[in-house]
Amino acid sequence: TFHGEAEVCFLYSRHWNPSNKYLADAMAAMEGTEAAWVTASGMGAITSAILQLCNAGDHIIASRTTYGGTFAFLHNYVQKFNIEVTFLDITDLKAVEAAIKPNTKIIYTETMTNPMLQISDIPELAEIAHVKGIKLMVDNTFTPMIVSPAQLGADVVVYSLTKFVNGKNDCVAGAICGSAEYIASLIDVNNGTAMLLGPVLDPLRSSSILKNMHTLHIRMMQHSKNALYLAEKLTAAGIHVNYPGLPAHPGHELLKKMMNEKFGFGGMISFDAGSAEKAAEVIEMMENEGV
Ligand SMILES: *Cc1c(COP(=O)(O)O)cnc(C)c1O
Repeated sequence: TFHGEAEVCFLYSRHWNPSNKYLADAMAAMEGTEAAWVTASGMGAITSAILQLCNAGDHIIASRTTYGGTFAFLHNYVQKFNIEVTFLDITDLKAVEAAIKPNTKIIYTETMTNPMLQISDIPELAEIAHVKGIKLMVDNTFTPMIVSPAQLGADVVVYSLTKFVNGKNDCVAGAICGSAEYIASLIDVNNGTAMLLGPVLDPLRSSSILKNMHTLHIRMMQHSKNALYLAEKLTAAGIHVNYPGLPAHPGHELLKKMMNEKFGFGGMISFDAGSAEKAAEVIEMMENEGV
């Protein structure tokens, strides 16, 4: 039908097609949401998801550290719709509460922020948001399987599938997971962003991503193992390492509280090599010697 129900007929491929439905269903199952939608990129997911919830004159609260494209969209682009954005330290819950205005529609964050690897307190942020009727939107790109934001209270979970979920660096894709009602609004052919802006994933791509998803649990465990190994070795070598799996990381206990068992603390790690020259040297060594 043309009424945006999650169960629709496969009338036209940009609207809905079986391959995209299989991948969307797998994403919804992984996140434990009623429904999901897949997009041509992570940015396609993020921008569609945000614009669907905001009108001109609305306000968004966003983590100051987010993926660069998301930051650029929120900092430079939504202003043309007269949407205002307050950026803040998302770990400062008092600041988040204080930033809420009558027209706030979304609190936007990443489970583990890119690139600072801060950990968002999803249950607390959800509570702060829901008291005021605000939606909590969480980008879970860095922590698939490790954290299930929707199970912790997030209303919308967005993904770049380009990264861990596909895992092979041979595609660009994204996903939006949420309630059946919200996903239906996104794919309404008359006023849904995921329809009208056209960020549709090519169905050949979705079938290849779905095949790769079958190994996601194994890959995430190994990514976490590798990252922890490096974090510990680098720490022992006297290098200042930022990795949420280390007890010294400010978000370590919080991530432990939120995470699903077995998958570890994720595959993202950053460290301060001390100088630009040293950093370049390390990168070169990793490229040449495959540390
Ligand atoms: C890469 C990335 C995105 C954007 O994804 P694309 O697939 O490149 O559009 C969004 N969020 C995070 C956290 C990312 O790392």
